[in-house]
Amino acid sequence: MSDATAKKEERRKFQAIKGTRDIRPPETALWNRVEQTAHEVFATFGYGEIRLPIFEPTELFARAVGGETDIVSKEMYSFPDRSLDAPAEILTVLELSTYLSGIHSAIEDGEIRRTEQNAKVIDRFLKEWEVFPAELKKQQGVVDISPLVPRLYTLLRAAQDVFDSVSLRPEATASVCRAYLEHGMQSLPQPVKLYYMGPMFRRERPQKGRYRQFYQIGAEVLGGTDAPAIDAEVIEMLMAFFDKLGLQGATLYINSIGHNADNCRRGYIEKLRTELAKIKDNLGPDSQRRIDTNPLRVLDSKLESEQPYIEKLPRIADHLCPDCAAHYAEVKRQLQVRGVLYQENWRLVRGLDYYMRTTFEITAPGLGSQNAVCGGGRYDGLVELLGGPPTKGIGFAIGEDRLILSLQECGKGQVQQGRDVYIAWMGEKAYAAAIHAAKDLRKAGFSVELPPLEQKFGKALGQADKLGAKYALILGDNEVSEGLWTLKTLSTGEQAKFPEPDLLEFLRQQKNVSS
Ligand code: ATP
Ligand code: MG
Repeated sequence: MSDATAKKEERRKFQAIKGTRDIRPPETALWNRVEQTAHEVFATFGYGEIRLPIFEPTELFARAVGGETDIVSKEMYSFPDRSLDAPAEILTVLELSTYLSGIHSAIEDGEIRRTEQNAKVIDRFLKEWEVFPAELKKQQGVVDISPLVPRLYTLLRAAQDVFDSVSLRPEATASVCRAYLEHGMQSLPQPVKLYYMGPMFRRERPQKGRYRQFYQIGAEVLGGTDAPAIDAEVIEMLMAFFDKLGLQGATLYINSIGHNADNCRRGYIEKLRTELAKIKDNLGPDSQRRIDTNPLRVLDSKLESEQPYIEKLPRIADHLCPDCAAHYAEVKRQLQVRGVLYQENWRLVRGLDYYMRTTFEITAPGLGSQNAVCGGGRYDGLVELLGGPPTKGIGFAIGEDRLILSLQECGKGQVQQGRDVYIAWMGEKAYAAAIHAAKDLRKAGFSVELPPLEQKFGKALGQADKLGAKYALILGDNEVSEGLWTLKTLSTGEQAKFPEPDLLEFLRQQKNVSS
């Protein structure tokens, strides 16, 4: 590296990776309010919070979300879980043998999991290893390992591939179902009602309301019955949450996509495919491809030129089996009973493979084309797909980033900013009093700024203004010796003197009046 390049490197400014961002104060206060509201509202419906790992075996998502979906095939951040690193450069026989026996014991101890993907390589590794250790040991200190080289390569290559692929989670439903099984939650009173919040990762094209690290708040109801009341209550809870946040203009869309049987969705998909084949030439390349892979997803298309054709396609509502039709009708009735307004949208299909029957989506204003703030639906087959018993399931995931954007757009994004009290102090004695005052005020729940260095009162008051403080507490040596403290209300400029104990009482009262 030349000196110039080295200098450049040194000066390089780091930036957050494309599609990720820092959420900073004061906006984080809004995030906290949203999350706190979720904790409160979901608790009133009897949900408990589950905290899940950020990464899981890739296989879990491949199985649950579906290997054919964009999420799994294109958007996941996957990497080998490489806890043992191969020696970087010169492979001395000793290093090599340490590395390989490390892999060997990791397999033996189950630290390297045996999966469908790596089973073959593990077997090959173990077979090669069996004939190796003795010879490797014999080679210690001896330079010539050339007769062993080809087999060493086989062994090394196998060693690289035994590591399980793990992925940053693109969504959390799969993890919740995994946890439900792993912890035997089937034996708890059913259904089990869980919610989660946290970051998800998808390598998508970043744009407004679409990020590579984004945040979801979601809930799942697992086990027990699939009574339509469950579906309706999940949606009711969601709307209660949005309501409590003051989100305006949210619209709930619902649909039923039936279940996977010839007299229901499967039959419908065949009809759809036949009709799509007839209009194939009028469709764009994505939709053309989906005629074979996933015809339902054609209904999702936003491509303007396709719309008149899609509108004329057969609708699933006319092809539901009697049970699914009755379930859907009852969900709608129950939503009415609960006073939840909805619109039916026959083109609403979920992007993930495991959904059935009730599907829903909520859109909110101010988001441009990324206007879905929540997607959800029933997924009765998922737990079984993950190796569990047949289990009913329904849930939703809210896009928190978009929810926050929409709250800001509709004027509900304000959060209290600034400090309650800025303490302007001058003098040694005053500083000691200020430290005590800050301690008492903070204990009483006020946000207090205590400047670390002495400043002239004029400068201090300017600083208090800049920080958006409500009050300035002025403490000079005079005030301290008189025992009368000066409180200035910064919005009006009013000033009043209080004996110390009355001051706290006064601030308390003011706070109660304003909240
Ligand atoms: P979209 O059609 O907007 O891509 P999706 O069908 O991929 O959504 P889901 O997997 O159902 O979305 O996730 C639920 C919610 O999570 C979405 O309604 C959206 O609000 C949010 N969401 C999904 N992907 C992103 C992303 N990349 N950035 C921000 N929010 C997202
Ligand atoms: Mg998407």
